[in-house]
Amino acid sequence: MTDKLHDIIGIGIGPFNLGLAALLEDTPELDAVFFDENPKFEWHPGMLIEGTVLTIPFLADLVTFADPTSRFSYVNYLHEQNRLYEFYISSKSMIPRQEYNDYLQWTAAQLEGLHFGYEVVDVIDHKDASNPHYEVVVKNTSTKNETSYFTKHVVMGTGSEPLVPSTMTGLPEADVLHTSRYMYEKENLVQSPNIAIVGSGQSAIEVLLDLLKEQENKEFQLALFSRSSGLFELEKGEFGLEFFSPDFVDYFHALSFKERNETLDTLGALRKGINPDTLRDLYETLYHKTIGQKEQPVMIQPNTEVQHLSKNQDKYVIHCRQWQVENSFEYETNKVILATGYKPNIPDWFYERFQHDIEWEDDKRYKVTRDYRLIFHDQAERDHYFFTLTNLEHSHGTAATNLGLSVQRNIQIINFLAEREVYPNRRNTIFQQFRMG
Ligand SMILES: Cc1cc2nc3c(=O)[nH]c(=O)nc-3n(C[C@H](O)[C@H](O)[C@H](O)COP(=O)(O)OP(=O)(O)OC[C@H]3O[C@@H](n4cnc5c(N)ncnc54)[C@H](O)[C@@H]3O)c2cc1C
Repeated sequence: MTDKLHDIIGIGIGPFNLGLAALLEDTPELDAVFFDENPKFEWHPGMLIEGTVLTIPFLADLVTFADPTSRFSYVNYLHEQNRLYEFYISSKSMIPRQEYNDYLQWTAAQLEGLHFGYEVVDVIDHKDASNPHYEVVVKNTSTKNETSYFTKHVVMGTGSEPLVPSTMTGLPEADVLHTSRYMYEKENLVQSPNIAIVGSGQSAIEVLLDLLKEQENKEFQLALFSRSSGLFELEKGEFGLEFFSPDFVDYFHALSFKERNETLDTLGALRKGINPDTLRDLYETLYHKTIGQKEQPVMIQPNTEVQHLSKNQDKYVIHCRQWQVENSFEYETNKVILATGYKPNIPDWFYERFQHDIEWEDDKRYKVTRDYRLIFHDQAERDHYFFTLTNLEHSHGTAATNLGLSVQRNIQIINFLAEREVYPNRRNTIFQQFRMG
C-alpha cells in the first residue's frame, strides 16, 4: 500500500496512454503513473509482420500534433537511430509497423512512471466529500501480490481484444487462431498442407500476403473466405481523411446517439476496407505467381459467410454459406486463421464497479463527454474524473481507434486537468465545414 495521492493513474500502456505519458513529461504540475499487464511494451506483437506499415503518416506519432519540438517525436527517434537520411531518401511517409513498435519502445524506455507486469484488477470510487479519489488495485503478474494506489483521476486505455465469434471457439489454439497470434504460430502454420483464412479486412490480407511469400519455401494450399462481396479498398482520399480531424469529432460528438449511429453507417468506406497499397501488392503478387499458366496460389471466395467450425479427425471443417445464391458447402483444412476483427477491451471490474453509477447510451455504450470523461449520476458534484480512451466509436466517431487523433485526445485531457492550455487544441483544421453557421 502506498498512501501518495497521484493526479493521474493510467490503466494500460498502449500508444494512447504512452502518448499521454510522453506529453505529461512537460507538465510538471500533473503527476502520473501507468500500469500495464504485459512484462514489457509491445504493440500488437502477433501482427508485427515484416514489410507491413502503419495506415497513418509519420507526423501522427505520439506527440507531434501537440508539440512538433518534442524530443519524443518519430523524427527525433530516427535522428537518434541515425536513420533520418535513409527515411528522407526513401521518401516514405508511412512508418513500418516493426519500426513503430521500436519507436514506442524507445519512448517508453525514456519515461518514468511506467510500470509493466502489473494488471489493474479493481478501481474503487471513494466519494468521501473531504477527499474524493480512486483506489486502483494493481496485481503484480509474477508474484500475484496486490497493492493499492490512490489517484484523483483515472485514464482507462485498455485498447482492444480479439473478436472471435462463439461458433468458432473451443478448438485448439495452435490450429484455429485469431490473427493477433499469427506471428507466434507462423512457423507451425506453414508446416501444414492447407491453411484457410476467415475474413477479408486489413489483417486478413496482410497475413495472406505473408503466407504467399512463405509458399516459395513450403508447399501448402491457401483459401480465403469473405462474407463481404469482395476485397475493397479503404477510402483514403483527402476529403475522406478530413473525418479524422478534431473538427469532425466536434461535429460528430454533438449529434444525438441516433444521428451518430446513422452517420457511422454512412461512413463504412472510411471504417472498413483494405489499404489500397496492400490490395495492389496482393494483385501484383497473384499476377506474378500465375505467369505461364501456373495454378493460382490461393482460392479467394467472397459472398461467403463462415457459419461455424467443427473438427473431423485431424482436420477442421469450415461450414460455409454463399449467402447470395443461398448455397451451403463445407471446406476441409488443417489450420484456420480467424481475421474476425477486434472489440473494445473493457475489464470485468469496470462493469461491477461503475455500471450503475454512470450514464449509458445503450446497454454496452457509455456516455462520454467531448473531453473523454465518463458521466456519473453525481457529475455536478464531482471533481475526480474517470477518462476513457477505449470504446469511443459511438461517441467520437470513426477516428476512435485512430492513432493520428490520439494526440488530440491527450491534449484535451491534459489541458482540462492542468486548467491551462499546456498544448494548443487546434480547430479550423480542415476545408469541409460540417455544421452550418
Ligand atoms: C494489428 C493492428 C494494427 C493496427 N494498425 C493501426 C494503424 O496502422 N493505424 C491506426 O490508426 N490504428 C491502427 N490500429 C488501431 C489502434 O490504433 C491500435 O489498436 C492501438 O494499439 C490502440 O492503442 P491503445 O493504447 O488504445 O490500446 P492497445 O495498444 O491495445 O494497448 C492497451 C494495453 O492495455 C493493457 N491492458 C488492458 N487491460 C489492462 C488492465 N486491466 N491492467 C493493465 N493493463 C491492461 C493491454 O495489455 C495493452 O497492453 C491497429 C490495430 C491493430 C489490432
